[in-house]
Amino acid sequence: MDEQADADYPPRRAGWPQRVFYYGAAHRFCSVRVQAWDGEAGRSPLKLRDEEIMFLRDGAGSGRMTGHTLVIGAGVSGLSVARTLLQLGQRVTVLERGAAGGESSWAGGGILSPLLPWDYDEPVTALALRSMAGYADWVDGVEAASGQNVEFWRCGMLALDVTAPEQALAWCAAHGMAALRDCPGTPPLAPAVPPEDNRIWLPDVAQARNPRLVAALRAAVIRQGGTLREHCPATGVLTQGGRVTAVRTVTEDFPADRVVLATGAWSGLGLTGLAATPHVRPIRGQMLLFKLEPGTLETILYRGGLYLIPRRDGHLLVGSTLEDAGFDKSTDDATRRRLHAEAADLLPALAAAQAVRHWAGLRPGSPDNIPVIDRHPDFDNVFVNAGHYRYGVTMAPASAELLADLMDGRTPALDPAPYRWQAALTRSWEKACS
Ligand SMILES: Cc1cc2nc3c(=O)[nH]c(=O)nc-3n(C[C@H](O)[C@H](O)[C@H](O)COP(=O)(O)OP(=O)(O)OC[C@H]3O[C@@H](n4cnc5c(N)ncnc54)[C@H](O)[C@@H]3O)c2cc1C
Repeated sequence: MDEQADADYPPRRAGWPQRVFYYGAAHRFCSVRVQAWDGEAGRSPLKLRDEEIMFLRDGAGSGRMTGHTLVIGAGVSGLSVARTLLQLGQRVTVLERGAAGGESSWAGGGILSPLLPWDYDEPVTALALRSMAGYADWVDGVEAASGQNVEFWRCGMLALDVTAPEQALAWCAAHGMAALRDCPGTPPLAPAVPPEDNRIWLPDVAQARNPRLVAALRAAVIRQGGTLREHCPATGVLTQGGRVTAVRTVTEDFPADRVVLATGAWSGLGLTGLAATPHVRPIRGQMLLFKLEPGTLETILYRGGLYLIPRRDGHLLVGSTLEDAGFDKSTDDATRRRLHAEAADLLPALAAAQAVRHWAGLRPGSPDNIPVIDRHPDFDNVFVNAGHYRYGVTMAPASAELLADLMDGRTPALDPAPYRWQAALTRSWEKACS
């Protein structure tokens, strides 16, 4: 898979096969210890038990076969579920309309945390923190299975101009998240940024280079025996007696014992024969990419909705916008200029730099940023993993784990109630773009 930095956008990439059809040997696993922050006393919410780590990394479970699962959508949500089911010894086929990982999962920034974690409802926190606690190990597993590096980097995040910083610090302490009032080795901020502003440094916040992460997930799914069909849009379903028996595509029907809908921002569109759709809609985000000297910035910066994400090789992402623009992925010059100017106000090295790339992606928007991870209300064998909105990369491991538990009838580690289909219908879109 290519990078945002220096290669083509995946849907245009000429060298990609139109269809991929592989079977491979099942991956074998081992247990590992978590590298999570320990907290002051007792068990931190960021500390997982060994068996939980084993699940997040390796998907260890019953291993029983439950037939053939078709996952629709090969973004981070679909590929993560596919990988988890494969690790449980199940048969999986992933159908993808375009190229795997070519939509939101490619377009985003790869920050592995909510931006201001204290600003979100508890269901967002629960899913995000569980993922964050196991992310390094989950990435280890993906890298081992794929043979690809995803550039996981615990670079920290410095949030400037935080409203009510004392409350934010108290929230961090209560949730086992390391937080300090300043960043050691302060980044090269513009002189106009006052040093005494309300800043909070979150040293444990990490990032993954998301285009590489989805490329590695894609490779892991294939190497672990999954079947991936790219450029193969699902158009509808065939049903019998309250169950879906097959998924229709333009070229053929795929028989299915179970179906997972992981169609990102398109989840609200539905498929012929599957009338009810989850409460998800596209929210556009524009991003800019710069290339600076490596080491110019070594932590994520956040201020007033704007973030700067450095990559190890000197590339730097600036984002983003929250636009209710339907399925339109176009960008505009006014936004490019505004994002550039605001970023240069923080980091002077950007003032003379030219953006090397500007793109937009469609987040799978959901009210209050709470995804739907549940069974479909009309069909017993259809499941949904969609609506992760701003934090789908962050939430991927724990969401896949939760959905796999629900599918196989295991007791989930997280309370599934907030992620239910019906719970989403009770929430309003009011805050979706704020
Ligand atoms: C600008 C921006 C910045 C972001 N920054 C971050 C961040 O820093 N951290 C973070 O955690 N998250 C971030 N996100 C959010 C994150 O990218 C998303 O929440 C996540 O990628 C959603 O993954 P997904 O798999 O659900 O959706 P997608 O990646 O969009 O995947 C859905 C897939 O389904 C396919 N599909 C749709 N319909 C069909 C069909 N009928 N048949 C077959 N396939 C179909 C699509 O082609 C697509 O490939 C950002 C998003 C954007 C846009």
